[in-house]
Amino acid sequence: MKTNKNYNNLVPNYLFAEIAKRTNNFLKENPDKSLIKLGIGDVTLPLAPVVVEAMKKGADDLGKKETFKGYPDYEGYEFLRQAISDYYKGFGVDVSADEVFVSDGAKSDCGNIGDIFSADNTVLVTDPVYPVYVDSNIMAGRKIVYAASNQENGFAAMPDENVKADIIYLCSPNNPTGSAYTYDQLKEWVDYANKNDAVILYDAAYEAFITEDLPRSIYAIEGAKSCAIEFCSLSKTAGFTGTRCGYTIIPKELERDGENLHALWYRRQATKFNGVSWPVQCAAAAVFSEEGQKQIKENIAYYQENAKIISSALDELGIYYTGGKNSPYIWLKCPNNMGSWEFFDFLLNEANVVGTPGEGFGQNGEGYFRLTSFGDRENTIEAVRRIKELLKK
Ligand code: PLP
Repeated sequence: MKTNKNYNNLVPNYLFAEIAKRTNNFLKENPDKSLIKLGIGDVTLPLAPVVVEAMKKGADDLGKKETFKGYPDYEGYEFLRQAISDYYKGFGVDVSADEVFVSDGAKSDCGNIGDIFSADNTVLVTDPVYPVYVDSNIMAGRKIVYAASNQENGFAAMPDENVKADIIYLCSPNNPTGSAYTYDQLKEWVDYANKNDAVILYDAAYEAFITEDLPRSIYAIEGAKSCAIEFCSLSKTAGFTGTRCGYTIIPKELERDGENLHALWYRRQATKFNGVSWPVQCAAAAVFSEEGQKQIKENIAYYQENAKIISSALDELGIYYTGGKNSPYIWLKCPNNMGSWEFFDFLLNEANVVGTPGEGFGQNGEGYFRLTSFGDRENTIEAVRRIKELLKK
């Protein structure tokens, strides 16, 4: 009996444990201080009313013989896949319902997609990075190369013709940096992938936060259907972090190594996944209804306003940052050349505000810091007031 020794190659991720430890120690020593957490990557607003109604109705259906549902389709019910296809049409992107696979979220799909690829492939990720891309490929024993996102490229890493990669993870708008690729930048990645026979795994989990004229989907780029798979999620779009629903798009025409990737993923899902529950798919479909869109946009606007409050303060303080405009994340340069953890302690002790040290997301995160707009308005305003007071000194 042997275990998967690739797991020994995982770098222990102390980030959130270390944040919790330092925060708890602080509270133990300063029980009367009020801490504000701007480090959370989870949403705080409740589900939209139409979504809750649809979920309740879905649950009622399961309680009646005439409307009871058993195992769902592996790829999701047609009505939800069609609603997703129509949603894409709304921003001018053509994705057909039979290219959509409904899932329990983007994290699972980003991690599981590797099942259809050989362990011999070289994987490229941008650094800093959402850790799931790295860890799931280390578990599979794949070689990983890094493309640097840094201040010089506005935290938008671009392809390098001298670097050979077979699988490329891109995330736009990005977690953790909040930067979002332009049409021209994404076109460069698409051209690189098509030329080098690579596949782009495009994570669009934050597309709903885009406010400027930037691509909401990689399929807004010519040539993407022959090289890209897209993941998306209702977690941040509609507050589904606890409800669990996402989707993956694999174009019917996407082929590599003599195989059709849509067919391979269908086979994989049919073997290892038994679909998303009826009430959750009903709730997800409600997100894409006219009223659903109106209601979820109110929640997104709330987070966007928080982001604006944070980024306006950084503008005032003259601190470099990316994100905030097209993303719930604000990625800032630690003032006075402080290290990430040094700034974490400084903010915690002096302003009683908790954020996320950038180095937890990769080497290029050292010296940077992530704040999020998922808190509530009052706390965000108060945290920003404290940060301004501290850093103006
Ligand atoms: N992709 C990115 C870039 C994320 O930041 C997250 C969550 O933080 C996810 C995917 C996970 O999405 P889901 O909740 O759908 O699994």
